[in-house]
Amino acid sequence: MCARNGFISVLTILVSIIGAATSSSATLVRFEKHDLQITLDVPSQQATISDKGMVQIGKGWTFFYLNGGAKIGSLSVAGNPVDYHVVSFADTVQLPAEIKADILTLEIEGEPLLVFFESNQSGSVPFEIDFEAKFADSVENVQFSREKVGNEVRGTIIEQGAYLSPAAYFYPTGDEQLAQFRVTVDMPGEWLSVSDGNPVSSALESGRRVETFENPYVNDGLTVMAAPYVPRVETRDNIEIATYFFEADTALAAGYLESATGYLTMYSELIGPYPFKRFTIAENFFPTGYGFPGWTLLGQQVLRLPFIKATSLGHEVLHNWWGNSVYVDYERGNWCEGLTVYGADYRYKLMESPSAARDYRKDILKEYASYVNQGNDFPLRDFKSRTSAETRSIGYNKAMMLFHMIEEEIGTTAFFDAWKLIYSQYKAKQVSWENWIAAFEPTSGQDLSWVIPQWIDRVGAPVISLDSVSLSTEHSLPRESISINISQMGEASYRLSVPIRFFYTDPRSSTFSPEPSTYDTTLILEGASGQYQLEVPGWTGSVELDPDYHLFRKLYPEEIEPIISAVLGVPKKRFLAQTTDVANKALFRGFGKSLSEDSVVVESPDILGVEPKDFAPVILNPTELPADLASALSATDSSLIINGVEYLRADHTFVMAGKNWNGFEKYLILLCDDFATLPRIGQLVPHYGKYSYLVFQGAKNIGKGQWPTPDSPLRKVF
Ligand SMILES: [Zn+2]
Repeated sequence: MCARNGFISVLTILVSIIGAATSSSATLVRFEKHDLQITLDVPSQQATISDKGMVQIGKGWTFFYLNGGAKIGSLSVAGNPVDYHVVSFADTVQLPAEIKADILTLEIEGEPLLVFFESNQSGSVPFEIDFEAKFADSVENVQFSREKVGNEVRGTIIEQGAYLSPAAYFYPTGDEQLAQFRVTVDMPGEWLSVSDGNPVSSALESGRRVETFENPYVNDGLTVMAAPYVPRVETRDNIEIATYFFEADTALAAGYLESATGYLTMYSELIGPYPFKRFTIAENFFPTGYGFPGWTLLGQQVLRLPFIKATSLGHEVLHNWWGNSVYVDYERGNWCEGLTVYGADYRYKLMESPSAARDYRKDILKEYASYVNQGNDFPLRDFKSRTSAETRSIGYNKAMMLFHMIEEEIGTTAFFDAWKLIYSQYKAKQVSWENWIAAFEPTSGQDLSWVIPQWIDRVGAPVISLDSVSLSTEHSLPRESISINISQMGEASYRLSVPIRFFYTDPRSSTFSPEPSTYDTTLILEGASGQYQLEVPGWTGSVELDPDYHLFRKLYPEEIEPIISAVLGVPKKRFLAQTTDVANKALFRGFGKSLSEDSVVVESPDILGVEPKDFAPVILNPTELPADLASALSATDSSLIINGVEYLRADHTFVMAGKNWNGFEKYLILLCDDFATLPRIGQLVPHYGKYSYLVFQGAKNIGKGQWPTPDSPLRKVF
C-alpha cells in the first residue's frame, strides 16, 4: 500500500503503467451508495472514516477523488483488495497527456487526491474504503453576507464543533450527480450531530455519542455538523422541529421553533408535504447561511439577528423542497435560488403590502444597474452559485424576476399548480429550466416557448422606451382613443408584456396630481417597436410604462436615486479626508476596509480636482456639501434636516450617497465627529445598500431613506 510521502515514485510507476497501456485514458468512477462511519478525534483534528456501498466502474484505469491529506488504510472493490495509486492534485501535471487532458476538463473544487486503480470488469460493484484525514480549515475571516461569500470552510474539527462538507472530500467522490447516503458519526459524548435526511438513531456508547442519519432520497452531496449543542425538539403534525443551539443562545429557541412551524405549514400547503421527518435549525460557530436536506446551518451572528426568523429562515425552509429534495441540473443553469427567493423573501414582501413588493422589485433592478455591467454580465444558463454581488444580482434576482413575470403572464393558480406538479414528479431528480417551462405550459395552457431563448440563454436586459402618446380624436368622453408608440433598444428584441398605467387628473389643471385614480392595461411588445391604439375610459392626464417595475429591465439613470450600493459597486474607491491626525486616519481606514476590496489609503481631498476621475470618492467631512445633496436636505452648522427629521450634527454620523458631481459619477459623503465609531459603521454600511442616506448615533442606525426619485423617461404627461 502506498504511503503519502511516496508520491514521486508512485507517480513514476503510474505514468509508466498507464503510459504503457494500449488505451491511455482513465475514467472517473460513479458512486451510487455510501454508508459512512466517521469517528471524530477533536484534539488531533482527525477523522477516521470508513465507507462502503456501491460504485459503477469501467474496465481499465479508473479513479476517484479523496481528501487531499487522506491516508488510506485499505481499499477493496468488487469484494477484493485492489492495488491503488495515489496522485496529489498538484502532481496531475505529470500524468500522461491523454489523462491530463481528461482531468483538466473536469471542474474540481479544492485539491483532492486522485486515487487510481485498474479494473478488469465493469458495472455496479460493492466497494469498501477506510482512511484517516485531518480537517483543519481556518474559521477565521470567513465571509458570508448578502453581498459577499468568501473563504468558505470545507472541513474543520475543533473544540467548538466539527463541520464536513462535500468540498472537503470526506467521502470518496466520482462523477456521480446523485447518490444515496447514510452516515454514522461517533463523537465526544457531550456533542450532537446533524446531517442530511432523517435521524435514525442516537446512543451513548462508552462515553461517546453515536448517531446515524439517512437520506430517503438520492442526494447531490452530504454535509455533517457536530457540536456541543443544547437541543430542543417539538413535534407538530408528525414532523419534528428542532433547534440545535449553543448554550448561550437557547433563549432564542422558542421563537425559531414557532417561525419554522409556520413556514413548514405554509410550504406544505403551497407545494406538497414536507419531505423529511425532522427539520433542524443548527447553529454554527463560523458564519454560514446554508440549507441542507432536513436542516439549516446558521452562523451565530446571523442567528442572533432579530429579523432572520422573518426572512432567511423561511428561505432555508423552502430549500427543503427546492434544492434539497428536487435538485438542480447545474449543467443547465441553477434556477433554484431565484425560485426560493420568489417563494420566500419576495413572498413575505407581497404578504406585507403591494408597495413593499414594488420596492423589492425596484431594488432588484437598481442592484442590477449598479453591480452588473457588460464585463461581468452572464446569462442565467451559466449561473451555478453566488460568489459576489453580480452573481447574486443575476442568479438570484434576475431569476426571481423571471418567475414573477411568468406568474404575471399565466396567473397565480397555474403558477403554483406547476410548483405542485414539479414537486410530485421530480423528487430526488434533477430539474432544469426546460422542465419548469414544461410544467408552466400545461398548467396554464399557454405557449411559453419564448422564455428560454430570451431570459435563460441571452445575456442582459431589455430597455424599453415610450416614444409617443397622442389622443387620436377630439375628446369623446366617456372613452378616449389613444395612440401609443413604444419600442425597445438592443440588438435582439424581447417578447414583453409591458404594463401601462393611465393617470386621471383634472383636465383643466395643468399640473399633475400625485394621487390620481388610474387605469391599468398591458401592451404586448414582440419586435423592436409597437404601435397601439387603445380605448381608455375618460380623460387622462399622464401615462407611464411599467410604473410598478414588473419587468426585468435596465432602469434609466433618471429612475435611480443615488444609493449606497451604487457607490459600493464602483470597483475603484478612494478615501479622502482633510485630517492629519494619524489615529483618526486609521479609524477612517477601518471604515474603508469594509467597503473596498483594495487596501485603503487616506488621501487629501485635493485629488478631487485631478484627472482621471475614474473612481468613486468617499469623503469624510468635506468643507462644503455637493450641490445635489445640499438641495436634498437642509444643513446648518449644528444640524441636518433630512426628509423632515432634524438630526444634531454632534454625536451623529451621516453617510450619504450622491451622483453626478464635479465630474464624478458616484460618491459618498460622511459627516462624523465620533471617529471611534467609523470602523463599526463601515461594517454596517454594506447591509444598507438600498438607501441613499444613513444616520447613526454611535454605531446604531437611527435613520435611513432614499432621496426623491427624479422623473422617469417612461412617463409622459399629455
Ligand atoms: Zn438560497
